[in-house]
Amino acid sequence: MKEILTKNLNLSQMEAVLCTEGPLIIFAGAGTGKTRVITHRIAYLLSLGVAPQSVLAVTFTNKAALEMKKRISDLIPGIGANAWVSTFHSFCAHFLHAEASRISLNPDFLIYDFTDQKNVVKDCIKELNIDEKRFKISTIADKISRAKDDLKFSSDMAAEAEYMGDFFGTTVAKIYELYQKKLERADAMDFGDLIMRTVSALQQHSELLERYREKYKYIMVDEYQDTNHAQYIFIKLLAGKYRNVCVVGDDDQSVYSWRGADINNILDFEKDYPNAKSVKLEQNYRSTPKILSTANQVVKHNNARISKRLWTQNPDSGSVTVLKAVNENDEALKVAKKITELIYSSAYGNKYKFSDFAVFYRTNAQSRTFEDAFRVSRIPYTVVGTLRFYDRAEIKDVIAYLKLIHNPNDNVSFKRVINIPRRGIGKTSIETLEKFAQLKNMSIWQSVPFAREAGLTKGPVKALNSFAQLIKDFSVLKDGGSVKLIAEKVITDSRYLKELEIENTLESKIKIGNIQELISAVDDFGTRSSDKSLAGYLTQIALINDTDSSDESKGKATLMTLHLAKGLEFDNVFICGLEEGLLPIGESAFNDKELEEERRLVYVGMTRARKLLYLCWSTERRVYGKTIWNMPSRFIAEAGFKDESAEMEQNREQSFQNKLSQGFNRTIQSGGSGQRQNFQSFNKKSSQAEILYTNADSYGYMPSGGEITKDERLIIPLKIES
Ligand code: ATP
Ligand code: MG
Repeated sequence: MKEILTKNLNLSQMEAVLCTEGPLIIFAGAGTGKTRVITHRIAYLLSLGVAPQSVLAVTFTNKAALEMKKRISDLIPGIGANAWVSTFHSFCAHFLHAEASRISLNPDFLIYDFTDQKNVVKDCIKELNIDEKRFKISTIADKISRAKDDLKFSSDMAAEAEYMGDFFGTTVAKIYELYQKKLERADAMDFGDLIMRTVSALQQHSELLERYREKYKYIMVDEYQDTNHAQYIFIKLLAGKYRNVCVVGDDDQSVYSWRGADINNILDFEKDYPNAKSVKLEQNYRSTPKILSTANQVVKHNNARISKRLWTQNPDSGSVTVLKAVNENDEALKVAKKITELIYSSAYGNKYKFSDFAVFYRTNAQSRTFEDAFRVSRIPYTVVGTLRFYDRAEIKDVIAYLKLIHNPNDNVSFKRVINIPRRGIGKTSIETLEKFAQLKNMSIWQSVPFAREAGLTKGPVKALNSFAQLIKDFSVLKDGGSVKLIAEKVITDSRYLKELEIENTLESKIKIGNIQELISAVDDFGTRSSDKSLAGYLTQIALINDTDSSDESKGKATLMTLHLAKGLEFDNVFICGLEEGLLPIGESAFNDKELEEERRLVYVGMTRARKLLYLCWSTERRVYGKTIWNMPSRFIAEAGFKDESAEMEQNREQSFQNKLSQGFNRTIQSGGSGQRQNFQSFNKKSSQAEILYTNADSYGYMPSGGEITKDERLIIPLKIES
């Protein structure tokens, strides 16, 4: 064991590993081996004879927990696998199951995810007769989650709101109260409950607390900067007796304040545990000096941070490059080209695999252009955290409509959309019709006129006929109409979009966003492709869906949001959409706190790279079918790219002139948050702009976690020098 320690750790890391008793904090920059210390510390404890069941390590994501478990097993084969490494949520779920009878809980409780949670909120709003337009489901669900992160019951929320004379808060508290009742009645818990119930159980049952304190004598927390209040109290309770708690983190990588994370948890650790030992790690093992200095140059612009020394002995072989594109497709193609070049070029010794590449972006919707470009370039990829664009149900539905219009005999597409949206044609009716069609050697489409003969009842027959008419009406557009027009007709005339609008949940809004993204893609096809027909479009889709011939031995490139990239590392990283309004997102540039969090996100992204880092931006970007004119993100200039800064100045002037000439009415920057912002007026002298946020387009979350709930006019100072 000593061998493993000395061979794999530097002196400071070793000091942290050997300090097994008492509170310990490792507050250090990216890539300095914090996670490595945790895994080695666990292995060391086990080698000393500590039972693996006495060690609890908590981390942020399931992926990180799995990775940590694997590393411990590698270090100590056999017993290493028995240490408790998990996320806060999975530990608490396990605890509640195990102790259910002790704390009067049904052990078969269900766990509600965010979609279930919103459905319950929706029911509550209806039942309480509350105006759904003013009290948006996702906003309320979010507020309830934040309250739980702060260990607040509905009564606490109500009391606070009353004290502040806050009508909105009082109403949310009422919804929260009913919401909780409904969950209890269903024996269900949301994610927030998992931690809140665990904390209450430990607080209320002293023998339980004592038992768990005895059980987990050694506690370790990775990414401590992103813990919220409830998680903080949970750790404090559990570590209350032996105080063998080791936390590691980096204030510069705190990126979850919008989900209730409180950076003070890490900054105040030494106040909570006055005798805590603190170990500093300063050597970065991950990145090249150039990447490290670039990342530091950017994060240095934050005021609310503790400055840290960070150096590396890694060879100075990597580079940081800015890739400028003319639009979002060009951006994706440039990234794809670069990846292909690096993989197949002998200049790089054919050393890279696809899995050595990661593309990070601010919002999920940005993945689509990369997916298209990667498919065309035969780059295999995975999208982390969400489904791949063309695998999403709503996209498959719309494409199935297009296929059916192109060829009504396509049974697969027919069956996919015949009852989407619902038009009263049940499964049995379709099965009956299909059997009939098979018998008569026809396609289902061809058998529609014989539906009565096939044995269908009046209702479904009527519905089938009007569906057939709908498809025929669309088909007329095939000659002469653009694919975009057909697609637009499909989503409106079939009521597909309308149904999603009526649903009005976060999910349905995301679906609407994706469908709009598809319309943008179809529109691109119309402008760029030589064969502009529906058949041509479907052929292109079929081709880009075929990645069979890609070289799987080289792994897959990773596409993910910056938030999910925390803790991971890749040889080569592309940070994309580095534009004002997208990164920093929305109006976060006008709020110091939010801007600093955006900057930390960029820092997290940059410090994932081992060898090569690319900062990508595009002068134009199409968002929801509208073209937006962009300025490069300030973070590019902060990273020391002077050419881009000069261009930024030039672009600012052009952007200003544009706004002047267009009577200030042009849509600028919707940002990834999807909140449309229309410049209504622009005052050059006072550098102020009046911006109209239109609720109609609101979708997704804002960095602050809030949402614009009504049309609002804001006067904001513009940081544009004229
Ligand atoms: P982050 O802040 O991004 O979470 P971290 O501080 O947790 O980073 P690790 O992921 O533990 O850092 O380590 C970064 C990389 O450096 C890993 O590839 C790890 O294996 C390597 N590394 C850490 N310490 C050493 C060491 N002493 N010798 C060699 N490699 C090391
Ligand atoms: Mg780490």
